[in-house]
Amino acid sequence: MSIQRTFSIIKPDATARNLTGGINALIEAAGLRIVAQKRIWLTRVQAESFYGVHQARPFFADLVSFMISGPVVVQVLEGEDAIATYRKVMGATNPTDADAGTIRKEFAQSIEANSVHGSDAPETAAIEIPFFFSGCEIVG
Ligand code: GDP
Repeated sequence: MSIQRTFSIIKPDATARNLTGGINALIEAAGLRIVAQKRIWLTRVQAESFYGVHQARPFFADLVSFMISGPVVVQVLEGEDAIATYRKVMGATNPTDADAGTIRKEFAQSIEANSVHGSDAPETAAIEIPFFFSGCEIVG
């Protein structure tokens, strides 16, 4: 166990329903600190690049269209074992499989419009955080 940082996105389905504060409350209740946060509207190029690992998946085009359909809130979260802790708070990718009390069980609409993204490994967080934030924008 150690203090880690992870990258989070509050997705367009959640910002459209005014759920940023509700999601942040669950993040903070889990002991994670929001050490950077900004609301942006992704371009198609940014979304395609960010989700490049899924390029060959059948849902890639739909996922990119969804991610640019409205504003998102990008965040850096810090805390004990932050990557695994946030994955637990997020819940399963498909909200029907997510545990009670998780963000996706409480708020997600579908396997695609599932309200949040979180890094899945230290190597991913190390790429995703600097994709959106410079060092001086992260204040721990
Ligand atoms: P995550 O790490 O739990 O976000 O899940 P993945 O990395 O497997 O997938 C990335 C994102 O693609 C998910 O959060 C969903 O928004 C979307 N996604 C995953 N699986 C599907 C699917 O079967 N259909 C559609 N339309 N979208 C999906």
